[in-house]
Amino acid sequence: MSKKRLPIGRCRLCGKELPLTFEHVPPHRAGNSGKVRQVSGDNLFQTLRDDNSHMPWDISKCHSKESQKGKGGYFLCQSCNNNTGEWYAKEYVRFVRGIIACIQNVDAGYTGVQFESVAPIYPLRVFKQIMVMMLDVNPHGLNDEKLVQFLLNKEDREFNKEKYQVYAYLYDGPVERLNGLMVQANILTGMIITTSEVASWPIGFTLYIDLPEGYSPKGCNITNMVDYNYDDQAMVSFYLPRLEGNTMISADFRTKSEIVSTIESNKNTVGEEVK
Ligand SMILES: [Zn+2]
Repeated sequence: MSKKRLPIGRCRLCGKELPLTFEHVPPHRAGNSGKVRQVSGDNLFQTLRDDNSHMPWDISKCHSKESQKGKGGYFLCQSCNNNTGEWYAKEYVRFVRGIIACIQNVDAGYTGVQFESVAPIYPLRVFKQIMVMMLDVNPHGLNDEKLVQFLLNKEDREFNKEKYQVYAYLYDGPVERLNGLMVQANILTGMIITTSEVASWPIGFTLYIDLPEGYSPKGCNITNMVDYNYDDQAMVSFYLPRLEGNTMISADFRTKSEIVSTIESNKNTVGEEVK
């Protein structure tokens, strides 16, 4: 068998130019395996612009790449991939499996679950894996050397909780999101939110950067998971609401019917202006 040459590029964690290895995002054993169709946000937005009857969750007309391996890409060098896999991803997989077990015990149509760990978890390791995934989906990084050191050294605890807040939720929806930085402005409130998001069944995470005062994100704030040491274990309990993803836009959890009614009301407004 011929050995496939690895692409050379800038590792999104250590920043060195090295051969990059394929990384599953989210980790392979956390529900990310098998064939997937990946569509870029630009491609979906173009399709929506070209065809205004097109619904944002329908990717059937979009140009897509098929991956046999699951979701992911060539983001990290071998050493970063192996280290973070060993230090953080293993524990993250255990955590997500606990969540899956929790969902299996509730009735269909649930609106959320109270997650109680049945065995102690390592909160810092889980949290660091979430932050590694946030760097994975950001081709230009987050321009924060301290954050890089926080992830490159497993024991490091210097995390800027004022700047970064992570919210978790059960994620269910046709559009899975691996979104790099996105800045959204609300014209009515004047609020600007900056996010990055990794959301894929069964769980999603939104990273908010410099969250504006008065904005209340959906989900459960799990940023306090950084208050543990690498070897600290804890029993955790938190409520995770079930949120839907029907668009490529980060932090957009509108249901399909909410999206349809927004589209209808926009059409009506345009109609009135024409008169
Ligand atoms: Zn690296």
